[in-house]
Amino acid sequence: MSTEVIPHNTFDTILVLDNGSQYTHLITRRLREINVYSEMLPCTQKLADLTWKPKGVILSGGPYSVYEKDAPHIDPAFFELGVPILGICYGLQEIAHRLHADNVVAGTAREYGHADLQATRFGGHVDKLFEGLEDAMTVWMSHGDKLCNLPEGFHTIGTTKNSEYAAIAHKTEPVYGIQFHPEVTHTPQGGQLLKNFAVGICGASQNWTMSEFIGQEIKRIRDLVGPQGQVLGAVSGGVDSTVAAKLMTEAIGDRFHAVLVDNGCMRLNECALVKKVLQDQLGINLTVVDASEEFLAGLKGESDPEKKRKFIGGKFIDVFEAEAKKIEAQNNGKVEFFLQGTLYPDVIESISFKGPSQTIKTHHNVGGIAERLMAGHGLKLIEPLRELFKDEVRELGRQMNISAELVGRHPFPGPGLAIRVLGEVTKEKVEMARKADNIFISMIREAGLYDDIGQAYAALDPSRAVGVMGDKRVYANIILLRAISTRDFMTATPYPFSYEFLTKVSTRIVNEVDGVCRVCYDFTSKPPGTIEME
Ligand code: GLN
Repeated sequence: MSTEVIPHNTFDTILVLDNGSQYTHLITRRLREINVYSEMLPCTQKLADLTWKPKGVILSGGPYSVYEKDAPHIDPAFFELGVPILGICYGLQEIAHRLHADNVVAGTAREYGHADLQATRFGGHVDKLFEGLEDAMTVWMSHGDKLCNLPEGFHTIGTTKNSEYAAIAHKTEPVYGIQFHPEVTHTPQGGQLLKNFAVGICGASQNWTMSEFIGQEIKRIRDLVGPQGQVLGAVSGGVDSTVAAKLMTEAIGDRFHAVLVDNGCMRLNECALVKKVLQDQLGINLTVVDASEEFLAGLKGESDPEKKRKFIGGKFIDVFEAEAKKIEAQNNGKVEFFLQGTLYPDVIESISFKGPSQTIKTHHNVGGIAERLMAGHGLKLIEPLRELFKDEVRELGRQMNISAELVGRHPFPGPGLAIRVLGEVTKEKVEMARKADNIFISMIREAGLYDDIGQAYAALDPSRAVGVMGDKRVYANIILLRAISTRDFMTATPYPFSYEFLTKVSTRIVNEVDGVCRVCYDFTSKPPGTIEME
């Protein structure tokens, strides 16, 4: 690890070792929800390379079978560490398999879905892992392999109809294994079970709160940047960059320089709004660079979506670099750091275990800006949100008095309206998309629907559609409305507006936006559709 001050000094940490399950990150989330700090690392992690000591270790599920040749195995040193261990599914099988290779076999019946677990009673008591839970609980299973022997030194603490060893525990050491997944919502008491493990068995303190985090993160930033250091960061008006910028400002004041680049494809009054909120209300040292003409000139004649995105990304870096130089000149001091709003899901994505055959993908959530700035200017990255999930970022924003409206804002793409004008982008088309979007979003807000919707916008399809306006035949543009319901933006369904609401929106757009004669609502789910149009 780099120079980073690590959170494990302040927060007891439950380490989750990822064996490649699609639910591993949920274990971390469930623990954070009960204010226990948790981090995930790949199952290939060597204990000797870990610079901190976890309070407990959870071994996740995974797609492999423990007895396969290529199956991943946990560094045995974790079992000697003397902290409690909980194996989930593959993790349970790993615990059993390491003690004896014959303990795990391919099951005859796969078990996917609900099962009823019965906690075993010992002299009237259930095991500590099931304390406070109902004896008979619904659990969720997803496995093909099974334990055929109870590993030596263990006893059964819970059974289901199909799994004699659905939950086991070592008789004298705090080592547990469960065949079901407590981290998914289909296991209703799973959160309590994880709490029993983390708090009851590991003794982890529940001090992970955003108010605790602010204090320690400000200290970390100050240590890292030093008494003179300057930090540069791009802001967009979105939640992540605003929260990160506010945190930097709390830590180092005006030595943090926020830059907002107007690319000519912003929403209606967006620059003015960002300026008002970030500069006036939040006291962030902000420079707004109007590069709209340059962006629009470069987009002229380009209708390929990928090329449009590429141009915008590249131009953004040019403008940002030029601004960085100006700021350095004014301050007579070197800018050493570049702020990046990386969130924990990006980190998880880059470190999660994907098996020996797959290369691990590195993340870059700002389209190569960081790479270029780091290479060209020797800038170092500072990522104050890299330990946080999105809901934690929002909570952090609230703690720093950022308005509920900003904290709850829908995501907005980096290239802005340029990818919501299909095909070639011109100033006039952006203007139409912008006006239509403003009408749509303000009507959504007035109807009180904004917070129910994951993301909503209006896009412009410049195909010429025929219409009759004022008795005259016209050929004009089409506005496409999109609004989705989603939990995680990975899948989405169209938001079920009333017919009446859509009619009202459509009427206003056609009446108020010159050059538009039709309005359509996009009914496509994701998949197969994406959230954005281009
Ligand atoms: N691959 C293993 C099995 O099928 C473990 C599955 C899991 O961890 N969900 O039993």
